[in-house]
Amino acid sequence: MFNLLNTLVENNKKYGKEGKLAAYIPALLEANPNDLGIYIVDTRGKEYFAGDYNKKFTIQSISKVVSLILAIKDNGRENVFKKVDVEPTGMGFNSIVNLEASDTGKPYNPMINAGAIMTSSLIDGKDVEERLKKILDFLKIVTNNNDIYVNENVYLSEKETGSRNRALAYFMKSTGVLDGDVEEILDLYFKQCSIELDARDLARFGVVLANDGVLPWNGRKVIPKDVCRIVKSIMVTCGMYDASGEFAVNVGIPAKSGVGGGIIATVPRQYGIGIYGPALDEKGNSIAGLKLIKDLSDELDLSIF
Ligand code: GLN
Repeated sequence: MFNLLNTLVENNKKYGKEGKLAAYIPALLEANPNDLGIYIVDTRGKEYFAGDYNKKFTIQSISKVVSLILAIKDNGRENVFKKVDVEPTGMGFNSIVNLEASDTGKPYNPMINAGAIMTSSLIDGKDVEERLKKILDFLKIVTNNNDIYVNENVYLSEKETGSRNRALAYFMKSTGVLDGDVEEILDLYFKQCSIELDARDLARFGVVLANDGVLPWNGRKVIPKDVCRIVKSIMVTCGMYDASGEFAVNVGIPAKSGVGGGIIATVPRQYGIGIYGPALDEKGNSIAGLKLIKDLSDELDLSIF
């Protein structure tokens, strides 16, 4: 496995040159666009890695998976899906058009910005700090790593340049679908996107989802099985934004990307996969990361379809 991963990283590193860092969050421009790394954990807890697997980056949209899980834990699935749908949009992750075009005004799904702003608003807690702590504590458990924290520099950068996310949130407030203090909800959203981790952390979180919510390293159940199923289904249909259909056809694994360059993938009952490659394609997915996971899926026959 180590040889295979090294070869795949070497073969796909060159694609970083064809992508771009996410410039709309200026702090993300500090990354090296040529980095590429992968980490894999199997359901017995065995770990494999290659390339720049230990570089830190911010979780960005992959935090949407966490806020969905916590929103369901706190409210039950019915109440969550009264507030956010589960349909792919075919639009970019920060698109506004669907919010106005839909009959209900509900965001289309929890994996786009509007939907994640909604699920973050549904996490219980007396203030932003308490809610953020729940997100961090959850991540510490599923990554088996206590060193998970917010990158202040990226957070401030997101907050300063987050006009589009403010527009989405205030629009939902104006139509009555989003409840609560909009600035506080946005603050939580910016902070959760700025949580820093590495490919190993994503791989471990991925294997917990693959293992129906049981931590492979100690057998403890931390996410209900039905919640894992919901989350993996939504990752397949919506996780790679408006490239989700193509990803399902070419790779066939539930996955979620973020503009920090991360991809988390979860192969049911087999593997969790974490990838880092910060150069992005025009849809905001890691350009070399996509090639790498496609090759891996072909080599190991990982498609669930
Ligand atoms: N923080 C980013 C944003 O809100 C997350 C988007 C992403 O990773 N696609 O725009």
